[in-house]
Amino acid sequence: MTMKASEYFCCEACFEHAWLRGLAKEKSESQGRCFYCDTVSALTPIDAFRTGFTNLLGDYIPVEGANGGRDSYFPSVPMVEAVQRDWKVFSNRCLPERIEYFLPSLFNGDRDSPARDFQAPVVPFHRNAMSTAFGKWFQFWMIDPTAFSKRIDPDEPLDIDTIATLPNQQAQHLKYFVRTLSPAQQLWRARGDYAGTSEWDCQPLPRHQMGHNPKCPASRLNRSGEAVLYAAEAEKTAIAEIRPGRGFICTTCELTTKRPLEVLDLASPLAELNPFTHEHLSWHLDLQRVARNVSAHIAQPISRGEDSVVYNKTQYLAKLVRTMKLDGIRFSSSLDTPSGVNLALFDPSAVEYSNARLVTITNTQISYEIKQPSSLNK
Ligand SMILES: [Zn+2]
Repeated sequence: MTMKASEYFCCEACFEHAWLRGLAKEKSESQGRCFYCDTVSALTPIDAFRTGFTNLLGDYIPVEGANGGRDSYFPSVPMVEAVQRDWKVFSNRCLPERIEYFLPSLFNGDRDSPARDFQAPVVPFHRNAMSTAFGKWFQFWMIDPTAFSKRIDPDEPLDIDTIATLPNQQAQHLKYFVRTLSPAQQLWRARGDYAGTSEWDCQPLPRHQMGHNPKCPASRLNRSGEAVLYAAEAEKTAIAEIRPGRGFICTTCELTTKRPLEVLDLASPLAELNPFTHEHLSWHLDLQRVARNVSAHIAQPISRGEDSVVYNKTQYLAKLVRTMKLDGIRFSSSLDTPSGVNLALFDPSAVEYSNARLVTITNTQISYEIKQPSSLNK
């Protein structure tokens, strides 16, 4: 005999989010028919979820409170739709017309609940607060230098120690994504060249020619004259980065790091946050948005060996990271997507070289779309 379905009980099957499923299981009591998903199951009093949802709902504000009155990217929707869109909370076994009852029942009688009118459209607070970490990177995001008055000046000295200056704040944001790499990491480098005169007479380049370019030309993460050793975490990535053609013979070699390295990790900066338990949720979501976007800008593929608009930004970031006294930057490869990872090291002597060998490029893939001519001087 089962009791009548009540909106004050739910079950494990109601949820898609793993943490909610675990909690539902842990706190489940007697069997019964679930009001929300209409299955007979071990029921959990919804009170068990109040603390978690209070944490989650803390990152949503009524759209009138948002900076600009709406989110420029996400439509403003009622709370249940917003959390479902952002966090995949409920499973698709829930009856859509019943989900509407969940939040009002959960916070029934709680006058301090994060939103008493659950029909009111909301937006994520971390994207719409008046002052966000993301907003402090405004100049960095702007790619069209004519549309905004000031380009980042790479020659201006960076003061990251004076509290509340922009570089100081940016350095504080990036600190969350610093990671220590233990010694003896294996890395690769490649050069589109070999010793000898033809493919009938070829040897790998000698090791001393596999280091950084001694002329130190400007590149993605260094200005002209600054030594940076660009290496990749896989041989294929190292080869892709030199953009060889089919049939090219290249030299690759292995590198091994000699000491622990503290790097800004933009290749995997996003730890999975549990929105139901994470303290200071909005702040951390804001920082993750910064990291995700910086990462995309750094990994952006470019047409020539150099692109002044992109380099303006990426070199600024490298300078910030050098000023933070880190050893380098770990970032996604733009030429070996989606999983290739590069490591740019500010100290080229932090690695040892071994196992140089020759490779022949057997295949490169091309796909393309039409691009309209464009000009910055419109
Ligand atoms: Zn259920």
